[in-house]
Amino acid sequence: MAGVYISWPFCAQKCTYCNFASGVFPKALEGEYVDALIREIRAAEWRWTPDTLYIGGGTPSLIDHEILDRLLRELPGHLWAEATLEAAPGALAPISPYFNRVSLGAQSFVDAELRRTGRKHTAAIVEENVAQLRAQGIANFNIDLIAGLPGQTAGSWETSLEWVARLDPPHVSVYMLEVDEDSRLGLEILNDGPRYGARDIPADEAIVAMYERATERLHELGIERYEISNFAKPGFESKHNLKYWRLEPYIGFGADAHSFDDGSRWQNVETAAAYAATADPRIELTRANPDEERFFVGLRLREGIEPSPSEWLAHEPAITRFLNQGLFEKDGPRLRLSPRGILLSNEIFQEFLAA
Ligand code: SF4
Repeated sequence: MAGVYISWPFCAQKCTYCNFASGVFPKALEGEYVDALIREIRAAEWRWTPDTLYIGGGTPSLIDHEILDRLLRELPGHLWAEATLEAAPGALAPISPYFNRVSLGAQSFVDAELRRTGRKHTAAIVEENVAQLRAQGIANFNIDLIAGLPGQTAGSWETSLEWVARLDPPHVSVYMLEVDEDSRLGLEILNDGPRYGARDIPADEAIVAMYERATERLHELGIERYEISNFAKPGFESKHNLKYWRLEPYIGFGADAHSFDDGSRWQNVETAAAYAATADPRIELTRANPDEERFFVGLRLREGIEPSPSEWLAHEPAITRFLNQGLFEKDGPRLRLSPRGILLSNEIFQEFLAA
């Protein structure tokens, strides 16, 4: 089955760590952006009826319900097995009946940490939002956490994990802070500057320890890792996001959206303004290489992959080395990353890319 992704890059504030092409844009751009989305959706060649929908951002929980209606009416089929709306805590209007899943960008439950990132919410607001979701019958929700924020310590991480235990979400995503020049914080860290708490980020080993502690604590709560950054109670794994890692088709609409269909990958122009201004937003069209991609996409999953005989042959030396080093585990014909392999996943994936 296939999925649809819609990108909504509009936010109420720009968080210091955020490296997405999202931001605070003029209201007028929003109308032009919606028109461009409708144009792109109408021009799409639908080879299938999608069964999952994900509206990410940005802060799509700020989209007006009328606009949502206009957009979603353009899509073929509305019987979503899963329809997810990303939400910023504190920006949660009543959820449109189209959605049966919400992803809440909590990031931390320590208010001082949140303030330094520019987020406007508090732990108490996340708690209120979770109660609001449950009252609206949305039991399927995700909480995002980031390990590596300025000022974060093993103790404050434990506080965030205890809030997670208290709120009892069926799905949690744990990301490690990404340091690159696409975020203000990342750029400041790379330049060794003092702004945004850049000199207070935890050491790499401390961030890894936070990730490992989260894995352990979530396991105690019955929330198991099914992908490197994603943890769920049984049956609550994200059906839409699983398509990315299982190389199933999906089409993304909007700024910086990615698509994979019929053996091709493409990506849209990055900024909201450029997207709204162009009649053809696609900037890249490449043939996918499923043999190569299965290793660095499929291995992200706990279920791992079952290499074909030709893949075994092509990658035998690397596979044997990683098995001997305890970075891979073998389960019958399946291969997966070991817990130690997960921590070195980027280096491992590079190996298959270069093979
Ligand atoms: S982290 Fe989320 S809310 Fe903050 S700027 Fe990025 S997309 Fe917007």
